[in-house]
Amino acid sequence: MPTKPKVFATHVLPPPVLELLSARCDVRVYSESMPLRQEQLAAVCRDQEIEGILLIGSRVSAETVRESVHLRVVSSASVGYDHIDVAACTARRVLVTTATGSLEETTADLAFALLLAVARRVVEADRFVRDGRWTHWDWELLWGSEVHHKTLGLVGFGNIGQAMARRGLGFSMRILYHARRRAADAVERELKALYVELETLLRESDFVSLHVPFTAETHHLIQARELSWMKPSAYLINTARGRVLDENALVAALKAGSIAGAGLDVFEHEPKVDPDLLTIQNVVLAPHIGSAATETRFGMVKLAALNLLAALDGKRPPNLVNPEALGA
Ligand code: NAP
Repeated sequence: MPTKPKVFATHVLPPPVLELLSARCDVRVYSESMPLRQEQLAAVCRDQEIEGILLIGSRVSAETVRESVHLRVVSSASVGYDHIDVAACTARRVLVTTATGSLEETTADLAFALLLAVARRVVEADRFVRDGRWTHWDWELLWGSEVHHKTLGLVGFGNIGQAMARRGLGFSMRILYHARRRAADAVERELKALYVELETLLRESDFVSLHVPFTAETHHLIQARELSWMKPSAYLINTARGRVLDENALVAALKAGSIAGAGLDVFEHEPKVDPDLLTIQNVVLAPHIGSAATETRFGMVKLAALNLLAALDGKRPPNLVNPEALGA
């Protein structure tokens, strides 16, 4: 009988996914509660002759790729892949795949939840009630901002940006978007979305929501100048990546009142959060839980397993990031 390819999962898998993989692979699973360190991942891949990594919540550095001489595929259960050194993988002809298609709607749900929460001061209201401060009905209590019929500006208009647009339409919002390229006419028509330059989007929107990947080009795409273009009544939502936004500049804008508030799921140095953000009331903070819904997390990991199996079978996996690695 031919030997099964060796696969390493960087997190415990749901039993049906483990069964799916185990039918065709020799699966090893990292089951410690402490995050897996790079040198541990490299050592496992090197010593256990790992051919496929099912990546959940860990990084894959150039060093790990270099050490993992048997590696053929890194299958990530995420949409973003800025935690994987794709260039190093491509150079070694290691395929990199993502779980695109499994988590975008859920991430848009969270982005919209943050938008509603910060605009209508839901978290402050919850604290107010829990703290026993609700002693009488008060006309002036916890006024926020309307959401319906306002302008929603989407920076990045791919899967999640467009899912946000659909949610905005449900709230009768005007939709503006910016990306490097315009979307197809049919998409613009369906989502009633207007393409504008970034400056126009920031100047006109009541809610700005970020949906670009982290790349060299999007590093600090939003910094002091861009924040200064926003209206003092406008809110900023970030569920993309922390480093897309200059966090110091955001804190300065919030302290100066030059924007109305922010909803953040991602942070520049996460899991570290700027201590100032913890004391500012008009921000809602979440610990990178964009895709954290039970059904979604299962779908993500199952898709990652299917991508991994396709790659190990020598097939072109559906969500391939680096087709160059397939060679001629
Ligand atoms: P996507 O479908 O690839 O869309 C990305 C969008 O960003 C596209 O419209 C792209 O259009 C635009 N873009 C790329 N580079 C740009 C630039 N330099 N300037 C302006 N626009 C740019 O990705 P997605 O599925 O919507 O996901 C977006 C990001 O969300 C992911 O990369 C990931 O980092 C993050 N995310 C976070 C969570 C979470 O848990 N918080 C969950 C899922 C995803 P052009 O190429 O035309 O510019």
